[in-house]
Amino acid sequence: MTRIHPGADPDCPHCAGLGAVVVRDGEVALAKRCTCLRSCPKCHDTGWISAGDGPFARRARCTCTALTRRLERFESAQIPARHAASTRASFKPTEARQAAALVAVSAWLDAYRPREENRGMVLFGDVGRGKTHLMIAMLRELVFRYGVSVRFVEFSHLLADLKSGFDHGQGSARLIDPLVKVDVLAIDELGKGRNTEFEGTVLDELVSRRYNAAGTILATTNYAPGTATGKAIANPAAVALGAAAPPALVDRVGPRVNSRLQEMCDFVQVVGADWRERTRELRRAH
Ligand SMILES: [Zn+2]
Ligand SMILES: [Zn+2]
Repeated sequence: MTRIHPGADPDCPHCAGLGAVVVRDGEVALAKRCTCLRSCPKCHDTGWISAGDGPFARRARCTCTALTRRLERFESAQIPARHAASTRASFKPTEARQAAALVAVSAWLDAYRPREENRGMVLFGDVGRGKTHLMIAMLRELVFRYGVSVRFVEFSHLLADLKSGFDHGQGSARLIDPLVKVDVLAIDELGKGRNTEFEGTVLDELVSRRYNAAGTILATTNYAPGTATGKAIANPAAVALGAAAPPALVDRVGPRVNSRLQEMCDFVQVVGADWRERTRELRRAH
């Protein structure tokens, strides 16, 4: 675990030395200082340390001040309260194929370089496989391990907020600009919705502006990326049984957004048993 504040207890059962714990606060998850935090042994909580000897030595910011900044960045991330406990450690794969997604996420986090251009990741697969859980785990580590700014947005909520803004005579800039400026933008449920022209326009603006700003995009979607010809990657077994190929992401977001995403992101499939189904089965068995 990353140590940010020298006054945190490395053996703390709540934060394991991070100095921060994540709690639910209404609809969002917030990070707050852990109770194990003692006064900083380096700066005695002044936030400044001497960068040399003597009374006129230059002063530098103490590393412990990074904790306050990271707590603020976690708050700005707007992570839903239901995902307050979503970490890599709490992601329990039920089979090897599901574990592969966790391995891909871990490798991505290790390779991430702050202040550089980083490829994004689109986690795709059926509902209930833990895609959002994994994406939140990535955001959490981006904040606490790398100190970068991140933002979670559920696409349908963004659209609703934009519409209500328009009704009150506000343009899209107030809501879209912060999503363009953030280091890593995480879009949940990409391609969900009614596929209207308005949705298409908003998504195109968002993805194009992040593309131009070389900003990293993370996303989850229930739709397979689709091939270059715009056809879904069909499940051969389902096709043999006469099932129609499911719609691909390209059918939902259009070829322009789809090709930008392909250029900017790696696509990682999250497969495995639906944990919601499993919980229901367990209940039936008792
Ligand atoms: Zn602690
Ligand atoms: Zn300090």
